[in-house]
Amino acid sequence: MKEFYQMTASEAMQKVNGGVDPLSEQQIRENQKRYGENRLTEEGKKPVWRIFLEQYQDFLVLILIAAAVVSGLLGEMESAVVIFVVITVNAILGTVQTIKAEQSLDSLKEMSAPRAKVFRGKEVVKIPAHQVTVGDVVMLEAGDLVPADGRILECASLKAEESALTGESLGVEKTEEKIETEVPLADRRNMVFSGSFISYGRGSFLVTAIGMDTEIGKIASMLAHTAEKKTPLQISLDRFGRMLSVLILLFCAVLFGISLVRGESWGEAFLFATALAVAAIPEALSSIVTIVLAFGTRKMAKEHAIIRKLQAVEGLGSVSVICSDKTGTLTQNKMTVVSYYLEGRQVPADEITMENAAEKQLFVHSVLCNDATHENGQEIGDPTEIALLNLGEQKGEKVRNLRDSYPRLAELPFDSERKMMSTLHAIKGKTVLLTKGAVDVLLERTTFVQKEGGSFPVTEEDREEIKRQNQQYSQQGLRVLAFAYKWKDDKEQGAITADEEHSFVFLGMIAMMDPPRKESRQAVEACIRAGMKPVMITGDHKITAAAIAKQIGILKEETEVCEGAAIENMSEEELQEFVEHISVYARVSPEHKIRIVRAWQQKGHIVAMTGDGVNDAPALKQADIGIAMGITGTETAKHAASMVLSDDNFATIIKAVEHGRNVYQNIKHAIRFLLSGNFAGILTVLYASVAGLSVPFAPVHLLFINLLTDSLPAIALGLEPHENSVMQKPPRPAGEDILTRKMLLGIGLDGLCIGITTIASYYIGLGKGPAAASTMAFGTLCISRLLYGFHCKSEQAVLFTKKFLNNKYLNGAFLIGLGLITTVLTHPAFRNVLQVTPLGSFELAMVYILPACNLLFLELVMKWIRR
Ligand code: ATP
Repeated sequence: MKEFYQMTASEAMQKVNGGVDPLSEQQIRENQKRYGENRLTEEGKKPVWRIFLEQYQDFLVLILIAAAVVSGLLGEMESAVVIFVVITVNAILGTVQTIKAEQSLDSLKEMSAPRAKVFRGKEVVKIPAHQVTVGDVVMLEAGDLVPADGRILECASLKAEESALTGESLGVEKTEEKIETEVPLADRRNMVFSGSFISYGRGSFLVTAIGMDTEIGKIASMLAHTAEKKTPLQISLDRFGRMLSVLILLFCAVLFGISLVRGESWGEAFLFATALAVAAIPEALSSIVTIVLAFGTRKMAKEHAIIRKLQAVEGLGSVSVICSDKTGTLTQNKMTVVSYYLEGRQVPADEITMENAAEKQLFVHSVLCNDATHENGQEIGDPTEIALLNLGEQKGEKVRNLRDSYPRLAELPFDSERKMMSTLHAIKGKTVLLTKGAVDVLLERTTFVQKEGGSFPVTEEDREEIKRQNQQYSQQGLRVLAFAYKWKDDKEQGAITADEEHSFVFLGMIAMMDPPRKESRQAVEACIRAGMKPVMITGDHKITAAAIAKQIGILKEETEVCEGAAIENMSEEELQEFVEHISVYARVSPEHKIRIVRAWQQKGHIVAMTGDGVNDAPALKQADIGIAMGITGTETAKHAASMVLSDDNFATIIKAVEHGRNVYQNIKHAIRFLLSGNFAGILTVLYASVAGLSVPFAPVHLLFINLLTDSLPAIALGLEPHENSVMQKPPRPAGEDILTRKMLLGIGLDGLCIGITTIASYYIGLGKGPAAASTMAFGTLCISRLLYGFHCKSEQAVLFTKKFLNNKYLNGAFLIGLGLITTVLTHPAFRNVLQVTPLGSFELAMVYILPACNLLFLELVMKWIRR
């Protein structure tokens, strides 16, 4: 049987769709039903029961299970049951949190899922790639992700990067010609394959296979499953947690020995040592980070910053340089033509008339050498090109008619290296090459200039005049495109090559306005205030870039503008010195971007960089935080980025940095909460042991605190409402460990205060016997830790301020914890199970008063000292 690559395009169309026209809506729906969604089967989507069981895989939970079994064997069935209940409740909490975190990460993935341009009816529409089905005709251009396998129908200079499939990283040139013989996959040049990227050119293809039937689908199950990568913060916390666990286990072993020497049964001693280990080891550190990061990303997505890699959230907090594109990111990307320049005169947009032959010629040229479409109110394409079409709309010209009258015979697409594009048309029986692009680039390739009465060899004065006019436009912040053409005598209609783009007749220029976004100026100010350097990197003209940069505050007296070419011959060291002084780079090519990012990184900075084009991918990967544009960005750029801006707006980056800093700060607060509380527990036990007192806690007490009343406030602290004040500080130093010496000292001191409070309570209870003392110590430690949550909300004192109660999650966690402990302390049903003794009213009151005093002391005295 013939394969699709061995058929002509129309044979393939005939075979798949039974005709040569694209499918109707109805047929598409039928095919979607028949073939299912265009997705690779998601590997390892875990069922709920697996997630639940995984909660038991934790080393500490296994020890606890062992402890429960030991208790049971020793005849202490109640303890055994309590331990099992506590572990189960803990596992349920863990399962719910894991599922919620996964859900928010999944919805995030959906938001940055690739899209494809397909024919629906007679129009091209953008749809999510997973809706593409067999029989669809998909349009491709540079930067697109190929959404399915298929046979190319037509193409112009189309190149695809198929490394995911073949390992070959160079672009493969595509063709529409049929291949007669049998060839291997890599040589099927008239086919495109799902998972590859279009690196150059334009084309369309007929979908022949989707989802698991595609070539990549066939090997998907063979591809090694890549585990979810941990973020640097999680890795550092895991390392710290492991170290701490070893220390704690050693400590518990010593305590176990002491208990035995004191004459306790080994079963009891083992149970206690185990419970203390569980209470002290901060096993939840890394999972709290995951949960808080996952929830943080949900908030960020609502504000148009879609995180693709979780690392980016914490990385954003230490960004110190933000390199941003101009067009569309700092400006509105709503371009409007404001002026034509031709035959040595300027014509404002409202005076342009199609009755004037030269003006009409420039307009027709701008419509033909143009890939955008504008039909039924739907604009598809580059805003620069759409602006050119919109002018026609105003003047009552039908773009489609013009394009039908002078069809495109061949083309050489725009790319940001050449900074121009060319198309070939038959006009009045002759073949003409139409080109548009950057003024400086086209002017270099010009030999004639069109003036009234014909075209004349270009003189030095003509060049000067064009440059002067370009400069005048640029100084107003306008974006200028030049238009030039040349007749081809040979009537040759084949492909165009880049070496033909010379000896042009210069036709004229079109100036467009792209005003800065309203919020750009404020965002730039906020960026500078937060200790970050904004840098504009644009492909546009130096003077236009400078004018816009001045308007939004990026260009200051002490900083300069330079052109990309200026850095070409600099050594790495020279460039590192140079970048400090430059805040605007113009006429930059993608390679320059990489060098600029690298130079800043070598100076120890964390760099965020925006990008949209197909060639921006390497720079986005090089940057610490690669940011792709959601609206105008290519799929290639999105794929390489760690964050996507769904509104393409610079101000969103600054908001994302604020989120990143806040999330990091909240994680820090949650960690502080967990570690100080655990430390207080250890201190109390250690003190009792050194002072020769009876053991202050029963094992179930520690389990109750650690597994039931502790994890909710910790997560709640991670979800603390964000503070604006984080943007008044400089970025966090790159590579700084989350557990700084200052933080560890704070944790130690806070733990000491909570420990002293617990011991004081223990002594008060001792008057009524060791059982009452233990109950009081348990109640006091539990409530002190619950209240301590409020202390951890901020570095500033929050008591008696509005901020004290502004976290509904923390308030809820506090009330649940307080309700639980109060019930345990007062309800007779729990006496045996949780080993508590009824307390007198004075003792009971002290269990609440002492923790309150502790909070007062921490808030008023400790925060003051720390400040
Ligand atoms: P930024 O990098 O800030 O997004 P940019 O859009 O100007 O700026 P490029 O897209 O690399 O950057 O464009 C570089 C230059 O190429 C522009 O200044 C313009 O002169 C020219 N140009 C842009 N778009 C087109 C196009 N569609 N056709 C021909 N020339 C273009």
